[in-house]
Amino acid sequence: MTTIGAVDIGGTKIAVGIVDEDARLLYRMEAPSSAVEAYADGLRLIADMLWDTARAACVAITGIGIGSTGPVYPFTGRFGDLDFLPRWSGESLVDDLAQEFRVLVALENDADAAALAEASWGAGRNKSRLIYVTVGTGIGGGIILDGELYRGVDAAHPEIGHQVIDTSGPLCSCGFRGCWESLAAGPAMAKWMGSQPEYSKGDELTAIRICELALAGDALALRAVEREAFYLGLGLANLVNLFTPDAVILSGSVMKSASLFFDGIGKVMRQGCRFVPLEKAELKLASLGEDANLIGAARAWHYRFAQDGKHVCQ
Ligand SMILES: [Zn+2]
Repeated sequence: MTTIGAVDIGGTKIAVGIVDEDARLLYRMEAPSSAVEAYADGLRLIADMLWDTARAACVAITGIGIGSTGPVYPFTGRFGDLDFLPRWSGESLVDDLAQEFRVLVALENDADAAALAEASWGAGRNKSRLIYVTVGTGIGGGIILDGELYRGVDAAHPEIGHQVIDTSGPLCSCGFRGCWESLAAGPAMAKWMGSQPEYSKGDELTAIRICELALAGDALALRAVEREAFYLGLGLANLVNLFTPDAVILSGSVMKSASLFFDGIGKVMRQGCRFVPLEKAELKLASLGEDANLIGAARAWHYRFAQDGKHVCQ
């Protein structure tokens, strides 16, 4: 029986759980990321939460998988310059947890980890070329080709959210204008609607609130949804043209309202993907739910170390 201690490190919270070999999350705990600004505090807190979750689930930890917002270096186990945890740069949670728990520890970018989990345990099962896209406060993703996680040079994680969609678009955090993320992530949707002359202030706008307003028939919110679907469709069409996948798996907070966007996305993709077999690229919602990142962290361990994880798809 393999019971993996899973660690999900994100900008607002650090979650820890125990995941069995059937992708069931047996127990979970979390703490705010702000509590672990110093690396030594983070290591202690994560190790303690791992011991506590294992005790609560009545299992022994047989391996540890970590998924983290990037940049991270999967094979050295070290953290790069994380915006929200600058003092973790160069530290190896992999080495430190391996020493304390005496088990193998794997680290992956969180979107790559979730892509691996969807490919083997979720909506991407039996698909060997899939692109996982998460749309929330930013846009990220992971690419699986021929059953293997695609890694760039130095095992770098591709940044699909920074493909340029419109050079006259809004300034992005990376310095370019009109990146996919700057046009279609949740905050971009709110910023666009808030800047329209017919918008009357009142509600605090978020992508989720706009979707609620659209469902209630608000005309401006419906335009915001139409615009969002257009830009999502453009970015997805680029990915399908480049990789000709057999599945595109959509996840993230904005995709909780996916039914609002699917028609618009499909229309743009059909216009823009005429020379590739778009009909064979299934557009699906992720199926692992709220805890996909924790389940992904566990899957990263299987992918790295377990025999069954070597090829994620049959
Ligand atoms: Zn950018």
